[in-house]
Amino acid sequence: MMPIEIQVRDAGGRTLARFRLADEGEYQIGREQAKVEIPLVDGSVSRRHAAVRLSGGRLFVTDSGSTNGTRLGETPLGKHWYEWLAGVPLVVGIFTLVYEPGDFAEEAPAVETDDERTAPVPRAGTADPVPWLESEFPGRLFARDTVPVAEIVASGKLAGETDYLAVGGGIGSFVWVDHLRIWGVPQDRIRVIGVTASCYEKWKEYCENSQIPGRERIRSNSISTPDNLWGFPGYALRETWREVKGGDIRGFRHILKVFGEPTLAETYTPRADDVYAALDREELRIGWRQMLTFGRAIALRKTDDGRYVLAYKIPADQAGDSDRDRYFLARVVQLATGYPTTRYLDDLQSFKRQNRGSNRVVNAYEEHEGIYRALAERGGTVVVRGRGIVASRVLQRLHETRQRNKQIGVLHLMRGPVEAGAAFDLARRAVGYDVEMQPFNWPKACWGGEYRRLLEAAAPEKRVELLSAWGGTTTAERADWMAILSAGKREGWYRIYFGEVKKMRLKNDKVVTEIVAKGPFSETLDLVADYVIDCTGLIADVTSSPFLKDLLARYNPPRNKATGSGPDQRLAGIAVTNQFEIAALRNGPGRVYAAGVVTQNGPYAAVDSFLGLQYAALRSTDHLAAARAPGLRRMGPLRSFVQWLKWTAGAKP
Ligand SMILES: Cc1cc2nc3c(=O)[nH]c(=O)nc-3n(C[C@H](O)[C@H](O)[C@H](O)COP(=O)(O)OP(=O)(O)OC[C@H]3O[C@@H](n4cnc5c(N)ncnc54)[C@H](O)[C@@H]3O)c2cc1C
Repeated sequence: MMPIEIQVRDAGGRTLARFRLADEGEYQIGREQAKVEIPLVDGSVSRRHAAVRLSGGRLFVTDSGSTNGTRLGETPLGKHWYEWLAGVPLVVGIFTLVYEPGDFAEEAPAVETDDERTAPVPRAGTADPVPWLESEFPGRLFARDTVPVAEIVASGKLAGETDYLAVGGGIGSFVWVDHLRIWGVPQDRIRVIGVTASCYEKWKEYCENSQIPGRERIRSNSISTPDNLWGFPGYALRETWREVKGGDIRGFRHILKVFGEPTLAETYTPRADDVYAALDREELRIGWRQMLTFGRAIALRKTDDGRYVLAYKIPADQAGDSDRDRYFLARVVQLATGYPTTRYLDDLQSFKRQNRGSNRVVNAYEEHEGIYRALAERGGTVVVRGRGIVASRVLQRLHETRQRNKQIGVLHLMRGPVEAGAAFDLARRAVGYDVEMQPFNWPKACWGGEYRRLLEAAAPEKRVELLSAWGGTTTAERADWMAILSAGKREGWYRIYFGEVKKMRLKNDKVVTEIVAKGPFSETLDLVADYVIDCTGLIADVTSSPFLKDLLARYNPPRNKATGSGPDQRLAGIAVTNQFEIAALRNGPGRVYAAGVVTQNGPYAAVDSFLGLQYAALRSTDHLAAARAPGLRRMGPLRSFVQWLKWTAGAKP
C-alpha cells in the first residue's frame, strides 16, 4: 500500500508540516506532543483532539471529544468514524489538514516540518494498528469473501430482501429497471439504492454546470430514448408532433433533420427539458419512486446462500434517531454508479492545493455560475482548457456573456493541433477549429452493426487497438458554434493556444498558466487570466469510488485495458461479458451486472451513452430471461408490441 502524506496548513494556506502515514492503523492528533503522532501545538487544539485511521488505503477520521470540535469540509464531526476523502479539508483548531489523491509520499521522511508548533517528538513506533473492520460499518462481517446470511439477520440491520437490486439510481439503473419491469418483473421484486430521487438528477446537474440548461439541446446525438426502449416515437418525432399540433408547421424541420443528418442537415438533438419530462413520465409509469431507497452503497459481498448482501448507509435526515447502517439481500445486482468524480489535472490540483478557497480555477462540471456573473459585471480574461462537448458549451456561454460586456477575452488552450480526425477504414472524423466533430465519434456500425460484433469478439489487446482507432466522445458540428469561433478570431477576443502546462500560479490576483508552446521553438508562454475553466473531463477511474474500490480489493475481478494517455486517457473499467455480467462475481444462481462508464473499454464502445445503457440493459435482461431468473418472461415480438402499446397509453407494464 502507498503511504499517504497529510499536509498541515495555517490560516494563510502555508504548509507547516507533512506527516506520512505509512502503516495501517490509528494516528492521534492533538496538542500533547509526547502522546500523539500528529502534534499540533496551539491553544485551539485539545490535548487529544481527533484521530485518523488508515485502513485499506482509505482514511477515516473521528473527533476525540475535543473542546473546539473538528470539521471535515462543512461537517462537524462526532465520535463516529467518517471517511476522509482526498481534497476535503479537515479543520483542527487553527490548522487545516489536507491530502490529495496524488499526495503519496515516496522517499519523503516520515515527518518533515519547518514550524515548531508542529515539531514532532520522536516516538518508539506508532500505535497498535486497529483494523477498521473491528468497529466500522459493515464491520468484521464483511472481512471475508462470503458472508453467512444468518449473521446478517442476527445483526438486526437487515432492511429487506429482493430479487433484483440496482445500485446507483441514475440513468443506467433506470433503464435496467425499466427493462425488468417490461419483461414482467413486479415492482415489489425490484429495489434501487441511490442518492437521488429522480434517475436523471446527477446527469441534470452535470448538464447544468457544463452550460446545458433545460431549454438547450443536449450536445451529442443521443440516438436512443432512455424512457422508451423501442425508440419510437423518438424525440424528433415527438417534438414535431407537439409543434405541428400547436399550429406551428415549421415543426416538421425536426423530423427532416433526422433524415438529412449529418450531411444535408445538422444532427438533431432533443432539448434537455424534453428528456427530463419523458423520464419523469416513465418513472411514474413503472413505479420508480416506490422501488427507490435512499442510501449510499458501502460494500457488496457474496452470501452463503447464492445471493449478495449490500451494506449501505441511509441519509442522516431519514434515519432520525435510528441506525443509518443497513443491509439488503438480493439475488441479482446491477452496478451503475456513473462517474466517481470530476477530474483535476495534476497542475490544476497543485494550484488548488496552494490556493485553497480560490474560485479562480474551476472544473466545468462543478457549479461556476459566479464566474459568468463576475465577467458580465467586470469583464476579464478566461482560459478554457480542453476540447469537446463541454468546452464547446462553455465557449458558447462566454460568447453569450460577451453580449453583456464586450471586455471579455477567451484564451482556448489545447494540448496540440488536430491534424486529421480519427480514421477507421473509410470513415474519418471531420475537424474544425482543432476539434474533432460528431457524428462519426465512433463509426456508426459500432453502435449496432458489424463493428460492435468485432469489438465483442476481440481479445483485450485488440479491443484497445480498435477503441484507440475509433477515438472517444466529441462535439457535434454546429453552424452557430462555428460562427461564434470564427467571429471571435476575426474580432480578436478568441485565441487558440497549443501547449503543455508547466504550472499555474496566482500573481496579483490573476491566474498565470505557464505553458510550453507546441511548435519548433517550444517557447514558454504565460497565459494571464482572471479565471481558468477546465473542460478536460470527469474521472472514469473505478478505484476513485470507495464502493467499487472495496469490491475490486475483495474479489479482484479482471479489469479492461486503458487506452490513450495523459488527459485523453480512457481508463479501464471492470471487465464484463458481452451480456454485461461481471463473471468473477457469479455466486451460484446469483449474478452481478454492470453498466455505463463502470465498464469502460469493454465489449461495447459507447457504454457511457443513453444507447450504451439501453444496450447493456437489453443484453443483461435477455441473459437473465434465458436463465429463467425470477419474474422474467421471454420477450417475443407479440409481447413486445403489447408492451409498446402500454407505453404509448401510459399504462403500467
Ligand atoms: C454533461 C454530460 C452530457 C451528456 N450528454 C449525453 C448525451 O447527450 N447523450 C448521451 O447518450 N449521453 C450523454 N452523457 C452521458 C451520460 O452521463 C450517461 O449516458 C448517463 O448519465 C450515465 O448514467 P449512469 O447511470 O451510468 O450514471 P449517472 O446518471 O451519473 O448515475 C449514477 C448515480 O450513482 C450514484 N452513486 C455513485 N456511487 C454511489 C454509491 N456508492 N451508492 C449509491 N449511489 C451511488 C451517483 O450519485 C449517481 O446519482 C452525458 C454526460 C455528461 C456528463
